[in-house]
Amino acid sequence: MAQVTCSFCGRNKKDVDLMVSGISAHICNFCIDQAYQILGEEEKTKKPEKNQKFKLKKPKELTEFLNEYVIGQFEAKKVLTVAVYNHYKRLQQKINADDEIKIEKSNIIMVGETGTGKTYLAKTLAKVLEVPFCIADATVLTEAGYVGEDVESILTRLLQAADYNVEAAEKGIVYIDELDKIARKSDNPSITRDVSGEGVQQALLKLLEGTIVNVPPQGGRKHPDQKMIAVNTENILFVCGGAFDGITRHIARRLNTQPLGFGKAEDKAHADRDNLLQYVTAQDLKSFGLIPELIGRLPVVTHLDPLDKTALKSILTEPKNALIKQYQKLMEMEGVNLVFEESGVDYIVEKAMEYNLGARGLRSICEAIVTDAMYELPSDNKVKELIIDAKYAHEQFDKSKFKKLQVA
Ligand code: ADP
Repeated sequence: MAQVTCSFCGRNKKDVDLMVSGISAHICNFCIDQAYQILGEEEKTKKPEKNQKFKLKKPKELTEFLNEYVIGQFEAKKVLTVAVYNHYKRLQQKINADDEIKIEKSNIIMVGETGTGKTYLAKTLAKVLEVPFCIADATVLTEAGYVGEDVESILTRLLQAADYNVEAAEKGIVYIDELDKIARKSDNPSITRDVSGEGVQQALLKLLEGTIVNVPPQGGRKHPDQKMIAVNTENILFVCGGAFDGITRHIARRLNTQPLGFGKAEDKAHADRDNLLQYVTAQDLKSFGLIPELIGRLPVVTHLDPLDKTALKSILTEPKNALIKQYQKLMEMEGVNLVFEESGVDYIVEKAMEYNLGARGLRSICEAIVTDAMYELPSDNKVKELIIDAKYAHEQFDKSKFKKLQVA
């Protein structure tokens, strides 16, 4: 009888672990392995193509997605989703036709206290859009030639996020945090050069508007020999955020001095003094120290509301990956039913308010409360349920290092 050999590599049946036989051919385990790998490689190379055909989601669909993660901030969600939707329509217009009407780019600026969800909103949005996304910090930027990072370094991050796929990066979203920190230091065209303030604002202008930038792929100035990658920023959406501490003074002043005719007198009387940020306009950003040219390139201005107790409580319990749900999941894996009583949740919220930590503080306070249990319970098979009420939370919190912190 003829010897059975692999129809692909010719190996003999006795030299392989497995031989699969078809109608008129055989394949050995080595060739199956290799074929499988080839399939995998093919899939990988196909993926970027798929990603480039982004699906255009409508503002309401986008908001629905955001709502699963981000609590409140409806105004910001509305403004952001509309801007993003228009941005992508603009991209489609470019692909489709040479229309007479050119839709302009709509970079965004978000004003809101720290820890209210600016970064989180931008990040969640990037997730649903399936485009490369990066966060850059404006505080480390300086005018070219000075100690610090050049503005081009922002794009290095975006390239890295896009796995160096330049085409994908050119449709990405960049979140520039702490834009308020590059505000002009004083109105006085000063004696000393303002290299980390106005200088950076100037340097950002071109980037925001759309230009071809030579980006060092490794970033920074430490690798002077690296080959630059040209990135066109025309279709990159820039979202800027900042706390703009003290801007409410400018807003209040403007509201008080607004000439009659702009906004009715009774509107002024009804202005919500506790949340002046909601009235923020480009004019206030200018008074704060952003140069008009920069403001002009950030045409969409929106605000985030400060988080009150109700919002913090919702953040703790409602989102898809709410903190409490995460702790419950962790405990469930140990076979422990973790119950957060209302009083326990209220206690955590109270502390977050007291320490003025916003939503960011919720996590560290929760950690302080559950760490002991997470240490003990995995080695204790008897406990099947842990109830966190105000009393338990209070005891644990008092033991933690938090207690030693000064109330901000
Ligand atoms: P910032 O406004 O300073 O950029 P972040 O977006 O970094 O604040 O918020 C810090 C963390 O707080 C987020 O990672 C998120 O977990 C939580 N958080 C803040 N605001 C919200 C919100 N509105 N809804 C849900 N989680 C929030």
